[in-house]
Amino acid sequence: MNNLKENLNNVRARVAKACEKAGRLPAEIAVLAVSKRHSVDKIRALNQLGQQSFGENYVQEALLKIERLQGNDIEWHFIGPLQSNKTSEVARHFHWIQSVDRLKILNRLSAQRPVELPDLNICIQVNIDREPQKAGVLPEDLGQLAEAAINLPRICLRGLMTIPMAAAENHDPAASYQAMRTLYLELLANGYHLDTLSMGMSGDLEPAIMNGSTMVRIGTDLFGQRPE
Ligand SMILES: *Cc1c(COP(=O)(O)O)cnc(C)c1O
Repeated sequence: MNNLKENLNNVRARVAKACEKAGRLPAEIAVLAVSKRHSVDKIRALNQLGQQSFGENYVQEALLKIERLQGNDIEWHFIGPLQSNKTSEVARHFHWIQSVDRLKILNRLSAQRPVELPDLNICIQVNIDREPQKAGVLPEDLGQLAEAAINLPRICLRGLMTIPMAAAENHDPAASYQAMRTLYLELLANGYHLDTLSMGMSGDLEPAIMNGSTMVRIGTDLFGQRPE
């Protein structure tokens, strides 16, 4: 647990260095700590070091953690695949969901977000490399889903999220990130008020920042290897 502080400093230093190279300011980049499969104690410790936002992929696991960490100043992001029978839990317990990729989910989140809570922040997940097994809308279907999102109550469309094809498959993530930036800029040009382009993970935050990311999602390089 001692190295959490070192890990956090290292990630922040990498972000700062990537920003310098990209001619951007570190304040433009949020760091989301991806805590799936990591313990409540580690999340609490990292939160006490000043890390405020955490991302979780599995609804049941996340609900237990949210419950146990009540009273801590934590912003919870849901970033995993979501089945429609779990939307109500996400609508009631999270501040953000970054993995919206179809209208049915969008409609349910809007209907189920409690009126006494602030709007649920949403990113649309884009399957930028058109991988058959991967979640996310295809680029050509983005416009329609974005249009639906801004017309629904109790949700606030903040931007886009992507997980590019693995670099191990001989693919340069920079190309995917560049394509995402183009989609994001198109929405801005069409009058959408967005501020979030969520892309970049432990292994590739640099090309993501170079291509306009405003939020990097870091698991391994903050918490260490995920337990099985
Ligand atoms: C697990 C996960 C991450 C973090 O990946 P690391 O390589 O451990 O940094 C980021 N985004 C999503 C959507 C994830 O599921």
